[in-house]
Amino acid sequence: MNILKTSLFTSLFSLSVLGVSIHGQAAEPVSPVQQKQVAGYYQYPFGNLQITALLDGTNYLPKALFKDIPPVQADQILKKYYIDQAKGIQTSVNAFLVNTGSTLVLVDSGASSCNGPNFGSVLTNLKAAGYRPEQVGAILLTHLHADHVCGISNNGVANFPNATIYISQPEMDFWMNPKSVESLPQQRRASFTNTVDKIKNAIAPYQSKNQLKTFKVGDKIQNFNVVSSAGHTPGHFGFSLKSQGQEMVFIGDIVHSHSIQFDRPQTAVDFDIDPKKAVDTRLKYFAEYAKQGQTIAAPHLPFPGIGHIYSTDSKSYQWIPVHFKD
Ligand SMILES: [Zn+2]
Repeated sequence: MNILKTSLFTSLFSLSVLGVSIHGQAAEPVSPVQQKQVAGYYQYPFGNLQITALLDGTNYLPKALFKDIPPVQADQILKKYYIDQAKGIQTSVNAFLVNTGSTLVLVDSGASSCNGPNFGSVLTNLKAAGYRPEQVGAILLTHLHADHVCGISNNGVANFPNATIYISQPEMDFWMNPKSVESLPQQRRASFTNTVDKIKNAIAPYQSKNQLKTFKVGDKIQNFNVVSSAGHTPGHFGFSLKSQGQEMVFIGDIVHSHSIQFDRPQTAVDFDIDPKKAVDTRLKYFAEYAKQGQTIAAPHLPFPGIGHIYSTDSKSYQWIPVHFKD
């Protein structure tokens, strides 16, 4: 191609890129077909273990769910994080599979069909990652909200037939005690009863086969230490795991937002059963994890929900997600 032809070609190409056809008429704008996202699993080697983050789904939370934060401040934080407020605050539901070499341990299980069509992909993603549900030997539940417990079953059938389910004793006591509802404000009671029904359905196939155990402070489940972190729910726990000198903590729902609750950790969320205690718990563990540098796995931080907590002043925090590694 000589110089003249090259420049003519370049000009025509530029025009067509600008949406002008070579005949001088505007070209029809073409929208690309929206492709399906890649499978929602992420492999993370930890010590001599293999952690697989499993995405259950994503959805949007209304800003109003975050409590006791001046709207102007909430808007500033959301703007800083480029969060599209028209849709709401995007939130992920993640579960984590730990391959110890001898067994698979699942931490939380997603929502199955309990929370609508955006969720329920943990099982599909576990299979996509190359595992079979029958290989899961234990499931540790941080608490009994539907987005953590429902994924263990589907329509009364256990999704993980060989797994023992572990739930903290205070968490079982709270949800299974018919008197708990009386401690709640009137406007919370219908939702409580609804959640109890979902929990009972989810755990039934395991209970009937004696595959449900409770734990308490000080107990150890396989190599996991249990970490009491009540507030979001009365029997909420995290799980800590060590391998080759490193520690990873599966923190559960001590945080729901990588933006508002990191910049301003004293912000409660509407799902907290005891908001004040939930805030105290977050402040306590954020300070500890920022200081000691544990690797964090969180169900509601952006997928894969694995990273570290950073702070320069122990007042506001920053979520440092892991970097994609192939
Ligand atoms: Zn949750």
